[in-house]
Amino acid sequence: MLKLTNTLSKKKESFESIKKDIANVYVCGVTPYDYAHLGHGRCYTAFDLLVRVLKFLNYDVVYVRNFTDIDDKILKRAQTELGDVARYPEITTKYINAFNEDVKNLNCLAPTFEPRVTQMMPQIITFIEDLIKKGRAYEADGDVYFAVDSFDQYGKLSKQKKDDLISGARIEATDKKKNPLDFALWKKSDDGTFWKSPWGYGRPGWHIECSVMAAEYLGKTFDIHGGGRDLIFPHHENEIAQSESLYDLPMARYWLHNGFVQINKEKMSKSLGNFFTLRDVFKEFDPMVIRYYFLSHHYGAPLDFAFDDVAAVQKSYKRLTRIFDVVCPQDIVREDMLTSPTVQKMLTFVYDDLNTPGMLGVLFESLDTLQKNKDELCMVKLFLQRVLGLTLETLPEKTVEITPEIQKLIDARVQAREQKNWARADELRDKLIELGVDLKDKKI
Ligand SMILES: [Zn+2]
Repeated sequence: MLKLTNTLSKKKESFESIKKDIANVYVCGVTPYDYAHLGHGRCYTAFDLLVRVLKFLNYDVVYVRNFTDIDDKILKRAQTELGDVARYPEITTKYINAFNEDVKNLNCLAPTFEPRVTQMMPQIITFIEDLIKKGRAYEADGDVYFAVDSFDQYGKLSKQKKDDLISGARIEATDKKKNPLDFALWKKSDDGTFWKSPWGYGRPGWHIECSVMAAEYLGKTFDIHGGGRDLIFPHHENEIAQSESLYDLPMARYWLHNGFVQINKEKMSKSLGNFFTLRDVFKEFDPMVIRYYFLSHHYGAPLDFAFDDVAAVQKSYKRLTRIFDVVCPQDIVREDMLTSPTVQKMLTFVYDDLNTPGMLGVLFESLDTLQKNKDELCMVKLFLQRVLGLTLETLPEKTVEITPEIQKLIDARVQAREQKNWARADELRDKLIELGVDLKDKKI
């Protein structure tokens, strides 16, 4: 039985789906105005693991991940990159394609549905109209706000009291809100990028899209809602307020959040200069090493990223690729895998809130015995490929172009070795390593 830590109860709970044999999962997607960073990679790897585990448990998984393809940041990018706000769809297309490429490189399975905000405007407008009709939202000079006072349970996910939130809220003189906690469902806009609504021209607020898309694809109440920990408040709290006010049902049964990625214990941010896109990191390490690195930490714990740690993890991943470099029958099915004692032991950790570090511990303890039993080795290999999403393919060696400068160093080193000048030979070797050349010496 799969157990998951539910942010709503702060407890590990046994997973039971609402509809038999179907698992409905919604994970908040990205705003495509830039390349995806390490935090995105970690989040979508974590939920890819969840989806794979649910599939292994024989659930028919419906996985929805959205694109916020209209937003101030996107418009700003269109202005700086293309010199024209109206060309924003070119920006979103570019970064959606880049995102899809990055997560594919991490071997994340494609979601069942990937809705975009700009394709959901009629549904968004209807949802807001229905909230107004129910007395849960109000119009104010072309904007529409959610009335937080109308929802008693506000704060239940982030474990905050409404009164505390109100006293901490910033009140601006221009505010049209009745309560400082009220948040925008629709914002009046006349900057050239807007949609027609009963309240005039404008754009939806950020939170409303997820409530609308989740209901559209998964129903008024569904199984699992996921995202990064930074989304708990206000985004997910507001999603709950919107959906539960309209439907009078729990939006999702289980709320799952992955931990932050930090760099040297600091939040990753462009202003601190410690911001890494997945593309930056993939230049140094194979995406499979990065996936393995993410999985070697528990998804819920904070992850302090360091290139040295990834280099260490790369060694252990390479070891796995060597050990599992065997040709296995591909007709091994789940039932076969379940007969493997190693897979059984690994599963006890996976089913315990996706404890992948614990699972890898079992794997490494079993490697010696596994190598003596090819059937068992194959069971574990297929399990790692299908459920952990690790391809286990031999990593390509980096090829380096031999420039005249490198050739000169190689020749000098050969000469030094012939003269048994080992100190000089080592010195030249270090220089070559710096240039990305790792020589394999023959005995002389
Ligand atoms: Zn969302």
